[in-house]
Amino acid sequence: MSLEKIEWDYIILGAGTAGCVLANRLSAIKNNKVLLLEAGYCDTSIKIKIPALQPYVFGKKEFDWCYQAQPDKTRNNIRPIWPAGKVWGGGSSLNGMIYIRGQKEDFNEWKNYGVDGWNYEDVLKFFLKSENNEEENSYYHSQNGLLKISNLKSNHLLNDAFIDAASNFGLPKNNDFNGETQIGSGKVQAFQKKGLRHNASSAFLKPILKRDNLKVISGVLINKLIIKDSKVIGINIINKNYSKNFISKGEVIVSAGSIGSPMILQRSGIGDASLLKQNDIKVEVNHKAVGENLQDHPGVYCEYPVNISTFNTEFKFNKMLKHGLNWLFNGSGPISTPAATCCAFFNTNKILDRPNAQIHFSPFSYHYSPLSKLHLPKYPAILTGTCILNPETKGRVSISSKDPQQPPIIEHSLWDSEKDLKNMVKALKKLSQIMSSKPISKYILNNPIIKLNDIQIKDFIKSNSFLGYHASGTCCMGDKGILNSNLKVKSIKNLRVIDASVMPKIIRGNTNATVIMIAEKGADYILSKR
Ligand SMILES: Cc1cc2nc3c(=O)[nH]c(=O)nc-3n(C[C@H](O)[C@H](O)[C@H](O)COP(=O)(O)OP(=O)(O)OC[C@H]3O[C@@H](n4cnc5c(N)ncnc54)[C@H](O)[C@@H]3O)c2cc1C
Repeated sequence: MSLEKIEWDYIILGAGTAGCVLANRLSAIKNNKVLLLEAGYCDTSIKIKIPALQPYVFGKKEFDWCYQAQPDKTRNNIRPIWPAGKVWGGGSSLNGMIYIRGQKEDFNEWKNYGVDGWNYEDVLKFFLKSENNEEENSYYHSQNGLLKISNLKSNHLLNDAFIDAASNFGLPKNNDFNGETQIGSGKVQAFQKKGLRHNASSAFLKPILKRDNLKVISGVLINKLIIKDSKVIGINIINKNYSKNFISKGEVIVSAGSIGSPMILQRSGIGDASLLKQNDIKVEVNHKAVGENLQDHPGVYCEYPVNISTFNTEFKFNKMLKHGLNWLFNGSGPISTPAATCCAFFNTNKILDRPNAQIHFSPFSYHYSPLSKLHLPKYPAILTGTCILNPETKGRVSISSKDPQQPPIIEHSLWDSEKDLKNMVKALKKLSQIMSSKPISKYILNNPIIKLNDIQIKDFIKSNSFLGYHASGTCCMGDKGILNSNLKVKSIKNLRVIDASVMPKIIRGNTNATVIMIAEKGADYILSKR
């Protein structure tokens, strides 16, 4: 039987973080015929597997959509790149591997948006379902899941110096940001197995490729859903010169990420009627929420030159043999480093209140942005990336054409909100105080913020900003969203969205673990037919 004639029980659009989890859970039931469609290809590249090579993966068109946004008026009209995985594993194949779940209150607060069943107690069991943590089983952790979570294997004395300095500043040490509380500073855990990246594809998809009820098709561009009488009956893909339909007798699940998912809905006639008409698309559901509510964590880099060797000066020909062997035999050392080795979570007003800021700390520095060339400074230095966790700023994603090969229009100004900017000024002052506390202060040669006044700090922010790379919220659940609390698209049968776009409010932390939890919970809704 040709593929087009099969009536699939489930068609999953996108083999990213969420799509890989869904493919695993839905095809675990032998009678379900599952089709997984993806624009990218299998994640076989060594650049994806070796943690320290992350800058050779994100921002590279081989693996990344490299979506370019509209000029950001708050940053001298630069046109930032929004990275997003275009490869099996999606964002989990190019991310920084930092394992953070967010705060308990984040999930409890979603009910304020009209979302039911997503309190912390409801979601914890789905975090646990996928987790295979190096740390022992506990109320907060599990060793029974498919996704390997490892302790840091790339130690450096500056890690402990940072944590001790934060402690002297008044922040408690925290050796589990995903446990009782997120407040404090400590070392991170990473999405890694034996010193290699453990992305969603390695954990959930590649181990099940032999299931004969699962078909994965790579390198195809999903165009739109086929909708008849308000019910999805199939999907249409295009690939270079041909177009093809796949028939669905069950559900279609859109898991194309926070930029890709709203575009698929809009091309299918689900979105703001004026945008759809402008692009000559028949309106199936007129709903303004599709593509709105785009959120990310605004961040600022700060480099601190130091007087001892850091990983960037270790990556030299004469030292690489030692580090290579250490990584090969022990899975440890600088080659296994996630994008940051330590974090600090604090409140920008009273530091011990609910955190609204996060410092990512790395005992190495690099100069890089998507599409640019990686440059490792020749001098030893620390790099910090400080993010605002509860941003007010929101943007939107819209199609520029009904042709799926045309890029999106992403409108988002990083510093649109004066409150976000003020919080960042306060966060950077706290960072500066930590870096001038003992014992880390004795290593720091230059503290760039310490002598600046607020106006100068604002200038520093605008020229050293970065996106948190945590795009969320564009097909969200809730009263004002396009989805019900069980992730079903309102007013259309047989259609759900399951990925980072479903969050009504971005969580306070890195988003990959939460997306995996969302996919676990989504699979549970689907299999229990809720
Ligand atoms: C550079 C970077 C660093 C990050 N660092 C961290 C970190 O350290 N820790 C952390 O927790 N989180 C991090 N994140 C965020 C995290 O990885 C994402 O939140 C998560 O991967 C999003 O998952 P998703 O399933 O929503 O979308 P994705 O994983 O992006 O999956 C979407 C999939 O759909 C496919 N697709 C989209 N449109 C189409 C189409 N039209 N046709 C066919 N296929 C399509 C894409 O190719 C992709 O494979 C980072 C993200 C990036 C980009």
